[in-house]
Amino acid sequence: MKDGLVSPRRLIDIGCLSELQGIHEEADGGFTIGALTTLAQLAAHPALQRRRAALAQAAALAASPQIRNRATLGGNLLQRPRCWYLRSAAHHCVRKGGEHCFAYGGDNRYHAIFANQDGCAIVHPSTPATALLALQAQVECVRGNGDRRVVALDEFFVLPSRDPHRETVLGADELVTAIRLPTLARSTCSAYVQLSEKASFDWPLAAVAAVLVMGDDGVCRQARVVLGAAAPVAWRASQAEAALEGSRINEESAKAAADAALAPATPLSGNGYKVPIFRALIVRAIHQAVASRVRAPA
Ligand SMILES: Cc1cc2nc3c(=O)[nH]c(=O)nc-3n(C[C@H](O)[C@H](O)[C@H](O)COP(=O)(O)OP(=O)(O)OC[C@H]3O[C@@H](n4cnc5c(N)ncnc54)[C@H](O)[C@@H]3O)c2cc1C
Ligand code: SF4
Repeated sequence: MKDGLVSPRRLIDIGCLSELQGIHEEADGGFTIGALTTLAQLAAHPALQRRRAALAQAAALAASPQIRNRATLGGNLLQRPRCWYLRSAAHHCVRKGGEHCFAYGGDNRYHAIFANQDGCAIVHPSTPATALLALQAQVECVRGNGDRRVVALDEFFVLPSRDPHRETVLGADELVTAIRLPTLARSTCSAYVQLSEKASFDWPLAAVAAVLVMGDDGVCRQARVVLGAAAPVAWRASQAEAALEGSRINEESAKAAADAALAPATPLSGNGYKVPIFRALIVRAIHQAVASRVRAPA
């Protein structure tokens, strides 16, 4: 709006909707997080810090303290991409209905290294989304006519191959009311790590959330590894997950998972530097998750 790229006729303040506030622990061990919950509230919530550590850590690392005090989780998931061509009035790119993606032949240092061959190479801008996808989050929505639906976060974001003009499946008359975190196995542990050019006030160059269900024998039973700032949507590293499941977690298996995750990467002319960063962060996230293991109910 400040750059004159969009000029909505009407702005509606939803900040007064008390139904969209608060973090609720459910009897089954899950959580319901109102869409107006701020990133600061997520970061400081003791039960999330203990039982959904990846989300509290991601929220704590996003933006700056001032922004985290204002930014709501719903608005964060729906923020527009940061691509500088998208935000420049001089570039009528594919995402704005034009013919060209200027990132392909231009400065693409912050762009995607996965799913970047379909006419648009944005990275998804939400830091919490990386952790939320790893934690199997679902998005609760309500339409203007009162109809409600719940969409798995896997299905909520839209890849350019499906539609390069939109980032989510949210309808024009639809509001996000809450994010649900399902119950997880008791032996689940999680961590979120990122690397940015600046320690604060900045989006990550690369981010990783790891959620592992561990056996008492140190063998990983189930893994979800999600990469942020890697693709137009928060990106499941399914090859890493397959490599971890059934393996004892150690330096060797963590590195093998990282190598498997990066094998299908297709970096652009200016962002190949992200590949070794992701490789290091995947190993770090796996070790951090296992080290944090507590025997609290998930
Ligand atoms: C310097 C700087 C650094 C930043 N760094 C990061 C970072 O590292 N990581 C990160 O994730 N973000 C970062 N951000 C972005 C910031 O976190 C987002 O701008 C903020 O989260 C948006 O939340 P909001 O509540 O202000 O949403 P708004 O800006 O008010 O809304 C965003 C969009 O979502 C719509 N919307 C909002 N709530 C709902 C709802 N409940 N249902 C339907 N539609 C809705 C609005 O209409 C609007 O289109 C940064 C921002 C700045 C300025
Ligand atoms: S990456 Fe997407 S948003 Fe950026 S210039 Fe290309 S089409 Fe536009």
